[in-house]
Amino acid sequence: MASKSLKPPKQPPKNPKKQWSLNDFEIGKPLGKGKFGRVYLAREVKSGFIVALKVIFKEQIEKYRLHHQLKREMEIQTSLRHPNVLRLYGWFHDEERIYLILEYAHGGELYRELRKTGRLSEKQAAIYIASLTQALAYCHEKHVIHRDIKPENLLLDHEGRLKIADFGWSVQSRSKRHTMCGTLDYLAPEMVENKAHDYAVDNWTLGILCYEFLYGVPPFEAERQTDTFRRIMKVDLSFPSTPDVSAEAKDLISQLLVKDSSKRLSLQKIMEHPWVIKNVTSHDTII
Ligand code: AMP
Repeated sequence: MASKSLKPPKQPPKNPKKQWSLNDFEIGKPLGKGKFGRVYLAREVKSGFIVALKVIFKEQIEKYRLHHQLKREMEIQTSLRHPNVLRLYGWFHDEERIYLILEYAHGGELYRELRKTGRLSEKQAAIYIASLTQALAYCHEKHVIHRDIKPENLLLDHEGRLKIADFGWSVQSRSKRHTMCGTLDYLAPEMVENKAHDYAVDNWTLGILCYEFLYGVPPFEAERQTDTFRRIMKVDLSFPSTPDVSAEAKDLISQLLVKDSSKRLSLQKIMEHPWVIKNVTSHDTII
């Protein structure tokens, strides 16, 4: 019957100036709940294009005085075009809500995948690290530092391709973390100390993620935040004897988790690292 639902178009409707409204979408199942609202599966009525619609309550944005930040970050994400960066196609609002029209990531959160399997194979971990590295290189070229890369902010599309999502809550969630007991696990030493920081904070986080992909837990995890803080500051890094992780992977992690941010491995050097070369072939879908 409706071929529209069986074969959704691959391209979003091309009309950048269009004023969207809720009437343009059929709303489907809820996909998840975030800090400021819910995300729904939705279909653009005219084209049949499937998207994820993020609904944010204005009241929340006003309460936390995030209006300017949200607007700025929406502009950043709209301008980014990379296969490993989740697209933000557009936005609209009504009296009470702001709606973000996002690329739909059918595979959901990488976090869930990781929790389900416990840890990833070296090959899968290397493919994700290479995808992330390329996406971050693109962002850094555009002078965008993500600052909040963590498994919850990484989504997977229908082919398992990694997508960086949630641009821009970085600054906000960073400051919130100090007051609201969030996780420090992914933050570079210069960030937990509230010092000036640059793009190298994302390189640090790649080291944390690489460790977590392979061991199932982040390297500086501790019962209490103060202990995590102390371990990050000391770079108290150790590699347990199980699971068995290759020497190359450990070498890459050790070269990223370096306190002096200017000495961390560059994104280009990550792509040239033997562990990445060994595990990621041209047949793998990195991008
Ligand atoms: P967020 O408000 O961005 O934290 O999103 C809440 C949850 O909704 C996430 O944890 C995902 O499970 C889901 N979600 C968010 N964005 C998307 C998307 N573009 N595609 C699929 N699921 C999503």
